[in-house]
Amino acid sequence: MGVIRNFSLLLFVELAFWGCEEEPEDCAGVAGGDNICGCTDSKATNYDSTATFDDGNCNYEDIEPPSSIYRYPLDEYSIIQDFGNPSNDFNQKYHSAEDLYGTAGTPVYAVANGEISYSGTMGGYGWLITIDHPEDDVYSLYGHLSSKRDKVTEGEVQMGNIIAYIADDDEDGSGGEYPDWGPHLHFAIRQGSRYDYPENGDNRWMAGYTYVYPTEIGWLDPTDFIEGHSQ
Ligand SMILES: [Zn+2]
Repeated sequence: MGVIRNFSLLLFVELAFWGCEEEPEDCAGVAGGDNICGCTDSKATNYDSTATFDDGNCNYEDIEPPSSIYRYPLDEYSIIQDFGNPSNDFNQKYHSAEDLYGTAGTPVYAVANGEISYSGTMGGYGWLITIDHPEDDVYSLYGHLSSKRDKVTEGEVQMGNIIAYIADDDEDGSGGEYPDWGPHLHFAIRQGSRYDYPENGDNRWMAGYTYVYPTEIGWLDPTDFIEGHSQ
């Protein structure tokens, strides 16, 4: 009897050990586990909602980067010359921007996060600033700014930072050459970086008026763009 009992015990231990060793590993390497391996990041294109173990193969290539939030460059937004209008002052060329009403000294805000790509005097603009917004592949342009007041001249800016102030009549670049426009902000948004465009010609990066209709060379309707990128 003793021999049989001992044999039974041995067989039981052997079976238990054997069973444990043969328990298959799941895809996560857990013996006897039931993980489902796949991409567990809901932001990836190949996200698998049933996966319980991340296999490290998430794919993000086809995802558009989240676009930035934009605000208007002035607190009060009233358009005195619209985008795309032909101009009597400029040989019927089209306005590549919106002219926004504002008294001299009105603060002008960065419309989104970005990097100053130009800040200096420029022809008929007085002081001019451009900000590149690489996340959205556009740049914003602000003309007729005040030279004598504070202004940001370089570096990164955040949406809502004051970058400059609207110029007085005697520093807005009109220089007596054109009828007195009165203080205002010339505000434009264009596809790409300002460095993508030449210094001269109809396609120049700072053109205020263009012979071809502005949307054909990358200028965007500022109000439409901001409304499409605001919360
Ligand atoms: Zn203008």
